[in-house]
Amino acid sequence: MDLKRTIDDILAYAVDKRIIEPQDERWATNVILGMLDEPDFQNAARAGELVPLMDRDDDLGCELLGRLMPRPSEMAAHWCQLLREDGPQAATDWFYQLSCDVDYVKRKAMARNLSWETRTKWGTLQITINRSKPEKDPRAIAAAAKAPKVDEKYPACLLCMENEGYAGRAAGQRGGEHPARQNLRIVPLQLGGESWGMQYSPYGYYNEHCIVMSREHRPMCVDRACIGRLLDFLDILPHYFIGSNAGLPIIGGSILSHDHFQGGRHRFPLQDAPLDARFRMPGAPDVDCGVCAGP
Ligand SMILES: [Zn+2]
Repeated sequence: MDLKRTIDDILAYAVDKRIIEPQDERWATNVILGMLDEPDFQNAARAGELVPLMDRDDDLGCELLGRLMPRPSEMAAHWCQLLREDGPQAATDWFYQLSCDVDYVKRKAMARNLSWETRTKWGTLQITINRSKPEKDPRAIAAAAKAPKVDEKYPACLLCMENEGYAGRAAGQRGGEHPARQNLRIVPLQLGGESWGMQYSPYGYYNEHCIVMSREHRPMCVDRACIGRLLDFLDILPHYFIGSNAGLPIIGGSILSHDHFQGGRHRFPLQDAPLDARFRMPGAPDVDCGVCAGP
């Protein structure tokens, strides 16, 4: 196998997907050689480690694509430019596609998910069995929510923005096992006057499943300010839905220690369900509010 040709194949992919620009190719070649700790292309045996890079779900691919892809500041600049000039759908199309192309969103694994609809006496039920993401034990979720804030743990949790670019650590290392996140990028959102971030779920349950996280590591709390932030999100990305789990262990949210929402480009039966009661909120006269109590 030819190391030079293998690296060229990776660069061709990266240029095609706009992970790098053509003028980055020489630099990117040296980044990959540096990662392999090779001084040149002579050691053909190393090519096997890179191939087939895009078919593997491992730390080398995560590190390599994380090193090649744009920095957070470049991502944020492009994100804001698209929002401003081309609209919200162009912005999310670009960000979602890039998250897939750098293999942060695990499309291959997600293809194993099972999803179907079934009619029930309560209406249409959407069922998804996520076979790509390891499920957590509800008892572990409850215990983690009660655990005191651990200042020395870095990043404090899987939703903290400090995960952006993190190299990860093994179970035996200080702080315990934590996944590598070199290819994670988070784009900025201003919600309720606060700095929030948005990323896509690596193992999404529905189309363009995004996670929206507070800058601060603080517990989930559904209150008045939370509703305001949810509405702000829809002002920025009106083609997405947004929702919040309650900060309770039995509801389904798996990380209660970090304030976050989940959204995406999907329509749930709840959105089409008849409303049992309607009301208005002071300060938001153009928002229709309702309660679905069910049959
Ligand atoms: Zn956190």
